[in-house]
Amino acid sequence: MQGTIVIIDAISTNRIMLKVQLSSAWYHVVQADGLTGLADLLRRTRPDLIISAMDLPDGTALDLHALVAGDTGLAATPIIAIAPQNDHAARLKALAAGIDEVLVQPLDDMLLQARIRSLIRTRSLIDDLRLQGGPRVPDLVPGLPTGLAEAAAGFTMPARVTAPMVPVAPGNIAIVTDNPATNAVWRARLKGLTPHHLQGHQFANAQTVMAAPEPDVIVLELPQSHEGAGLRLLADLLARRATRHAAIICVPNSASPALAAEALDRGAQDVLQNGFCGPELILRINTQLHLKARMDQMRSNMRDGLRAALRDPMTGLFNRRYAMPWLSRTARCSSDQGHSFAVMLADLDHFKQINDQFGHPAGDIVLVETARRLKAASSSDDMVARIGGEEFMIVLPQAGQNAAMLAADRLCRTINATPFSVPGISQPITVTISIGIAVSPPPASPLDPSIGEFGDHISDLLITQADRALYQAKGAGRNQFTLIRPAA
Ligand code: GH3
Ligand code: MG
Ligand code: MG
Repeated sequence: MQGTIVIIDAISTNRIMLKVQLSSAWYHVVQADGLTGLADLLRRTRPDLIISAMDLPDGTALDLHALVAGDTGLAATPIIAIAPQNDHAARLKALAAGIDEVLVQPLDDMLLQARIRSLIRTRSLIDDLRLQGGPRVPDLVPGLPTGLAEAAAGFTMPARVTAPMVPVAPGNIAIVTDNPATNAVWRARLKGLTPHHLQGHQFANAQTVMAAPEPDVIVLELPQSHEGAGLRLLADLLARRATRHAAIICVPNSASPALAAEALDRGAQDVLQNGFCGPELILRINTQLHLKARMDQMRSNMRDGLRAALRDPMTGLFNRRYAMPWLSRTARCSSDQGHSFAVMLADLDHFKQINDQFGHPAGDIVLVETARRLKAASSSDDMVARIGGEEFMIVLPQAGQNAAMLAADRLCRTINATPFSVPGISQPITVTISIGIAVSPPPASPLDPSIGEFGDHISDLLITQADRALYQAKGAGRNQFTLIRPAA
């Protein structure tokens, strides 16, 4: 099932005609004739989208919007309102209230279907981002403490896919048209209406859109004479790194439902299906800015989450989960390229005594300072990880025996040369570390077919050897390193 759509209309023939259209596109359709009892129905059906007549027996589509926006579980449900005729002022009022789209009877089937797909796609994207790293649903209700506290000042985060007219921070808006005259006219019409930074670009030099500052919203003309060029540019902007997260609002330069539908299906976030209209464009820009701010925040949460999953929170070093695959990659890479690499396991000496003598919190500070010193004394190519309580792994991706021993000597000295001072403890704490080193034998030849298999196992083998070397260093009196020489 592609999704559930609730249709609300007092006129049963309207509902039935829509139901036939939507069912043939494999949507599950639920019908209602007004607002009475609707909240329960919506909570039960959890629709992906709502299509409502603008006027209902017991209210309007704006009342429906208020009902949906006020319910945490429903707040992200997009709404399309169907108006009996093209009433420009009513349309702007509905968009300003936060209704996602207003379509006019008789409905253009192709445009309706494309708009439904586009709104459901955006909603799914938000749901996915929320699962991966976004705030909890209750955090998205305006007025409640929000998980988006670090969002740019001035933003009020909307609960819905689109937002009513709430303050929005100035964004970078790229206006991209076929010719400079249209560009100048559009910018002039928008200028007095918006605090946003407007930047004009033409099709002929559209690469400038991808230069800094990266646009938040791109308004893209789809000229009738050059619609192919406009649609190609749309595809290009959606694919480029600098513009793929920008929201693209397409403007067919005359009312063309087929072109508007095509643009939505190709990935435009929004279209002005009736051509350029300054006030309507501003509403849609604001909606897209809200939405983008929210998605950017969720993407950033997701990145932070991924980063946190690979770091040890106390020392900030990589953790074992990161270190092991990194080591395997290094092993494969070094065998492909025919050079050796080194693995070190480092373990603080008599660390239990430090805890016992100065307390666990002091032990933690020693661990953090140890991590800092190890990192500072390593090269930027080396990987330094905390793989256990007071155990660290250092991988030198291009080191032979001599380089590894020099590095291990440097690491021992960075710990033992200067005692550690811990706030609240008067005497400096003497700390030492022992290190076991294992160095991979250089592969016989980079093209040797057995190397791949060897490379897959080498990291396990080297860890075992480094562990044995560490044990020897401890046995030999600690505060030193030992190297296990590779088998010939
Ligand atoms: P050795 O020289 O043989 O390595 O002796 P050791 O005392 O360092 O080794 P042992 O394995 O006996 O003790 C390790 C101690 O490290 C025990 C444990 O409580 C402590 N430890 C592990 N993780 C942490 C941590 O995150 N913070 C603190 N403060 N102590 C920790
Ligand atoms: Mg240990
Ligand atoms: Mg130890």
